Amino acid sequence: MVNKEAWEELTAEFAQKGVTLVAVSKTKPVADVVELYQLGQRVFGENYVQELVEKQAELPADIQWNFIGHLQTNKVKYIAPFVSLIHTVDSFKLLAEINKQAQKCDRTIHVLLQVYIAAEDTKFGLDQQELTALLDEYHKKKNELQNIRICGLMGMATNTENETQIRTEFANLHQLFNSTKSVHFADDATFATCSMGMSSDYKIAIEAGSNMVRIGSLLFGSRVTV
Ligand SMILES: *Cc1c(COP(=O)(O)O)cnc(C)c1O
Repeated sequence: MVNKEAWEELTAEFAQKGVTLVAVSKTKPVADVVELYQLGQRVFGENYVQELVEKQAELPADIQWNFIGHLQTNKVKYIAPFVSLIHTVDSFKLLAEINKQAQKCDRTIHVLLQVYIAAEDTKFGLDQQELTALLDEYHKKKNELQNIRICGLMGMATNTENETQIRTEFANLHQLFNSTKSVHFADDATFATCSMGMSSDYKIAIEAGSNMVRIGSLLFGSRVTV
């Protein structure tokens, strides 16, 4: 069972604000994805490669699958034929592998670089120095990386009740997004996505400048496992 009212409200609000809704369907059955699809939702997010591959095979081809989980290099090949956007690139090695697999499929894969903004050590992502190093390497080897497009940044705030902390973390990410845009992608209009915010903190994220939110439990109900 999906929460249709929540979907309708979020969709209306986000259309007005220019925010893309990624409906996070991890651990939820195909039937739930179909329900939202029938309402008009096309962008869905998944965290696990095998689950994504299985769902993609069963569901309509015009779904834009977003990969939002930690991605191992050796698993890229399974999602490369169809994935629309990968949010979680956290190394040059992974970026190069996505390019290689995209090339094999004769595709261009859009990616976001995942930045570590939380005060927890359980979350993946690049710190500022690593981000800069990755981008320097990317620009040096850009000619060999024709099958990927870096479209922006993604980050997750600390899982806390402290709104001030969440606000500060999102503000930091948005500032980093702006500076990265002006330093590295000033003449590249595809670098335009700042993916931040989930069910519990999307309002704060949008106030801080997010234009892509990843929402699961608010649409699909709570999950037994994360
Ligand atoms: C699970 C997950 C979400 C969605 O979380 P909800 O709290 O259910 O909205 C968003 N982003 C990432 C990276 C996730 O793993």
